[in-house]
Amino acid sequence: MSESKWLGLATKRLDLSKGGTGSPKMEYLMVAVLGLIIALSLGFTLWGVFFGDSSGPAGGMEGDIHFQCTACSNEFTKSGEEMEKIMPTALMPEMGLLQVDCPKCGKKESCLMQTKCPNCGKYYLSDMMVANAKAFDEAKAAARAEGKDPSTVMPVFPAAGEQPKDVCKHCGTDRVQWYIDYYKKRRG
Ligand SMILES: [Zn+2]
Ligand SMILES: [Zn+2]
Repeated sequence: MSESKWLGLATKRLDLSKGGTGSPKMEYLMVAVLGLIIALSLGFTLWGVFFGDSSGPAGGMEGDIHFQCTACSNEFTKSGEEMEKIMPTALMPEMGLLQVDCPKCGKKESCLMQTKCPNCGKYYLSDMMVANAKAFDEAKAAARAEGKDPSTVMPVFPAAGEQPKDVCKHCGTDRVQWYIDYYKKRRG
């Protein structure tokens, strides 16, 4: 199923980056965290685009992916077709950290994927995504400074509890909590 494909991609990426972080316990933790991030952060949008699986909550399966520039706040969309071209070269697409160039202000990798609120259905740029991207940018810059290939860098996310909440800018819904409640209800 789709989920195992995503986990496969994620673990493959972990293998690529082996050498740095190391301990089996850490890797197990990362895989668990990855699974959660994949399911929650992508909001099932990419899932629908790439695997045609429309079983996600709130039916968030429109073909277009919404982006927002962190430099100039420009909002724009890319079609599933465009995304298929971007995906192989994008850094960490498995983690929802798609960073694309801004078509308006021209800044490189400044645009992040917007999140679709499962409650009100509107799109917003989540503080969590911005914080994760910032941490990732710093890790990449550090790798470049050491002469390493930045595409092999693992992002170091802010520690649990220090991470900003993923809250809808329009209606104030805490998205992670929303999904937890959703699956609790589903299980019965
Ligand atoms: Zn811009
Ligand atoms: Zn909302």
